[in-house]
Amino acid sequence: MAARKSATALKLGDYYMGRDKLHRDELTSELRSNARETLRRVNRLLRRAGIMASVSSGWRPAAVNARVPGAAKGSRHILCLAIDLNDRDGTLDAWCMANLAVLEELGLWLEHPAATPGWCHLQTCPPRSGNRVFEP
Ligand SMILES: [Zn+2]
Repeated sequence: MAARKSATALKLGDYYMGRDKLHRDELTSELRSNARETLRRVNRLLRRAGIMASVSSGWRPAAVNARVPGAAKGSRHILCLAIDLNDRDGTLDAWCMANLAVLEELGLWLEHPAATPGWCHLQTCPPRSGNRVFEP
């Protein structure tokens, strides 16, 4: 029997933000696979934290990313390896900072909360520094 999914678990549709229709050609099977894995890890994190969060930025096709102010040119969002969650009061960022062992266990890396006011950026691949919590 499949594991019970939380009713509040984030879905692929939340992650693609409708861009899977507008930019279908760019959404390769590899990217779809990355997106599923990103959501799998992040949904586990949210269950562990007991926090409900919505997607503020999911997949960014390259053309979309180029229009996002301050977005890194090689952003992990382009490859479906990163997600931003709404975190207006910093609750999720604070939980992550206090539970870095859980991030390590799940294979998630966190952009430093000081750089992400109002949201929480998580990614499924290590940053260049290799640090669990990294500067953009
Ligand atoms: Zn991000």
